[in-house]
Amino acid sequence: MARDRAPRWRNWAGNQQCAPAAVHEPATEDEVVRIVERAAADGRRVKAFGAGHSFTGAALTDGDLLDLARLSSVRHVDHGTARVTVDAGIPLHRLNDELAAVGLAMPNLGDIDRQSVAGAISTATHGTGIRFGGIATQVVGLRIVTGDGSVLACSPTEESEVWHAARVSVGALGILTSVTLQCVPAFRLHAVEQAERVDALLERLDEEVDGNDHFELFWVPHTGWALTKRNRRTDEHPDPRPTWRALRDDLLYSNVLFGLMCRLGRMRPAAIPRLMRAVPGSGPVEYTDHSHKVFASPRHVRFYEMEYAIPREHAVEALQRVRDHVRRSGLYVSFPVEVRFVAPDDIPLSTAHGRETCYIAVHVYRGMQFHQYFEAVERIMDDYGGRPHWGKLHFQTAETLAPRYPEWERFQAVRRRLDPAGTFANAYLDRVLDPL
Ligand SMILES: Cc1cc2nc3c(=O)[nH]c(=O)nc-3n(C[C@H](O)[C@H](O)[C@H](O)COP(=O)(O)OP(=O)(O)OC[C@H]3O[C@@H](n4cnc5c(N)ncnc54)[C@H](O)[C@@H]3O)c2cc1C
Repeated sequence: MARDRAPRWRNWAGNQQCAPAAVHEPATEDEVVRIVERAAADGRRVKAFGAGHSFTGAALTDGDLLDLARLSSVRHVDHGTARVTVDAGIPLHRLNDELAAVGLAMPNLGDIDRQSVAGAISTATHGTGIRFGGIATQVVGLRIVTGDGSVLACSPTEESEVWHAARVSVGALGILTSVTLQCVPAFRLHAVEQAERVDALLERLDEEVDGNDHFELFWVPHTGWALTKRNRRTDEHPDPRPTWRALRDDLLYSNVLFGLMCRLGRMRPAAIPRLMRAVPGSGPVEYTDHSHKVFASPRHVRFYEMEYAIPREHAVEALQRVRDHVRRSGLYVSFPVEVRFVAPDDIPLSTAHGRETCYIAVHVYRGMQFHQYFEAVERIMDDYGGRPHWGKLHFQTAETLAPRYPEWERFQAVRRRLDPAGTFANAYLDRVLDPL
């Protein structure tokens, strides 16, 4: 099914848009193959999108755009190995519910669950937890439609070089049609969320990172406070917050009131420091719930984001430099700076490749200027060999990125083999991976 003269496509944040020649909604792998074959024969480019939650132009095209919302079923559950094969377009929230129904779960998740599986792995989406990798590390098999319309089934034992690279591909290798994930038995998380003094926290940061299954902090700009989240994996029964408290914490405080503050701050930036002092004001929160209900929460306030992956050992110094910069520059920042930790992996384009990683993310409210702030933070992260999240804003190019990825050339070799004509290229890939 295709919609010609398609309307403009926009991402979630509204900062990226394109006018595709056609939007297709394939429901089967065969349909994807036919679309790619036709486009390749006519010299058109092809991109797929999942939930459009990337802030970069990763999914943009003036060619054929594939909306994978109809390619979104759970195909197979292997209870013996806890492996699950799903269509590439399935949203994480639906997958989480279906896994819970059969007693399984994803080992780790990011802070929302709206993304598609393919979109999430393609940009190296991650959560936090120094003993856990990003979502792409859970991929044990995948099927991909390549530049000439062939379908490759890939795993560590079949087309292993393609599997190795395609777990994080920024959409450059082809269209993923299905993914097999290594899941784990369902588990609960005991969550503690509170405000703490940031200086004291940074003095014992290593202890917190190593001593908690999933630790993250949000430094509140213009204050000496951080909001912390500590999640402990447990077999205890759920003891969730009453519905009214969950609604108050996750919707009223984190979205309605925070969104109001952001709007006020956008109208009167000089008021932002005073507004930020209200952020750490809510009391501690403690509860136990199914893992996916704790990892992910609703995010209705729209923003622009940049996130950098640096070696874990530089976390404190890098964050202190970001704090210093905000203090000295006179910038008004109305979004907390998020700090997370992830285990190393071996995926060529993973931002956590080969090193224990600290992720530092900066945000601004939608419609506000981000260049000055993000460029300054990027310069700090450059000093630590920082790797930008593929789905979040940054100013790097293939020239500056290649030396930061030891297996860059290994990825490029797979790309040249699978997409020699550049069918899956776009302006973003030309910039960050070089034109083919
Ligand atoms: C509110 C919010 C919260 C976020 N939280 C986190 C977080 O906690 N951790 C984190 O790491 N990131 C986070 N992100 C970033 C987000 O996870 C990534 O940008 C992710 O790529 C979005 O998934 P998507 O399904 O929307 O993909 P899209 O943005 O639609 O696409 C991303 C890329 O994947 C490609 N792609 C999509 N489907 C396919 C396919 N089937 N085959 C080949 N290529 C494909 C697209 O072409 C594009 O290049 C967040 C973003 C937002 C807006």
